[in-house]
Amino acid sequence: MSAVMENQPHEVLMEVRDLTKYFPITGGLFSRVVGHVKAVDGVSFDLRRGETLGLVGESGCGKTTTGRAVLRLIEPTSGTIKFEGQDITHYNKQQMRALRRQMQIIFQDPFGSLNPRMSVEQIIEEPLVIHHMGNRKEREARVRELLDVVGLASYHMRRYPHEFSGGQRQRIGIARALALNPKLIVADEPVSALDVSIQSQILNLLEDLQAEFGLTYLFIAHGLNVIRHISDRVGVMYLGAMAEIASSEDIYRKPLHPYTEALFSAIPIPNPDIKRERIILQGDVPSPVNPPSGCRFHTRCPIAQEKCRVERPVLKESEPDHWVACHFR
Ligand code: SF4
Repeated sequence: MSAVMENQPHEVLMEVRDLTKYFPITGGLFSRVVGHVKAVDGVSFDLRRGETLGLVGESGCGKTTTGRAVLRLIEPTSGTIKFEGQDITHYNKQQMRALRRQMQIIFQDPFGSLNPRMSVEQIIEEPLVIHHMGNRKEREARVRELLDVVGLASYHMRRYPHEFSGGQRQRIGIARALALNPKLIVADEPVSALDVSIQSQILNLLEDLQAEFGLTYLFIAHGLNVIRHISDRVGVMYLGAMAEIASSEDIYRKPLHPYTEALFSAIPIPNPDIKRERIILQGDVPSPVNPPSGCRFHTRCPIAQEKCRVERPVLKESEPDHWVACHFR
């Protein structure tokens, strides 16, 4: 959790409004579009400068698609994305290339995301080459500096990804993401593929780097403990929609959305005086090809009423800085 968020006014780095991403499904002899996977369907949130906003939800909830769409790594179907007040939703390739320096991504699979035929030096240097930054010597010095920042040694630069452990490979991925001094990093499940003991090392590294460089993180994960550890605020997604956003403390202490309640009821509370009953949701997550009408959660919600079947709830501020999309909370 970042220290910069405490007692400071919120300055918005990125504003996302009504973001949708539909993936076409084609079928038949002529590969016609026969439907759409509504991976993200009307998601809004602000990303505040210097914070870590954790995005959490079951697989298929749209959190990864959201992370990629806000960076324009995949094109949103509709909605707006503003970065430092500029509407970047329709930036062309050239404009996005310039902006890319400020917005980077760390991937889940550090092995798959690092080219096995490139040395560590080439991997970390590549963004600098693409953006024509520095001469050969300056770039080499920058690679050494970045390796040091992420806890690796200079001699590692001549080696190749297969010579490293999972945690070290993720450090290389982080060094690469930092090469251009970005303001925003989307961390897409960056520790999910790592052993638990290594996970906390990487989380601590990300926190240290945030404090040192004033980074803003959109941190995507399905592990609730990981999200709790690192996030200032948490956004909970369900079936392509944002169910709830609040500070990490508020949302873990008093979740308001029935889905968040159920999701978090699985986490044991260390205080024996507080009892929380495990809520087991009935049924499966419906298909994003044909999501339920009204509130997407109504087919599984223990307190659903008729209104929920017809009217989609908007995300509203139910308590100070605690936003929830439910008609009754
Ligand atoms: Fe449940 Fe209705 Fe609230 Fe949706 S709007 S979470 S179905 S009570």
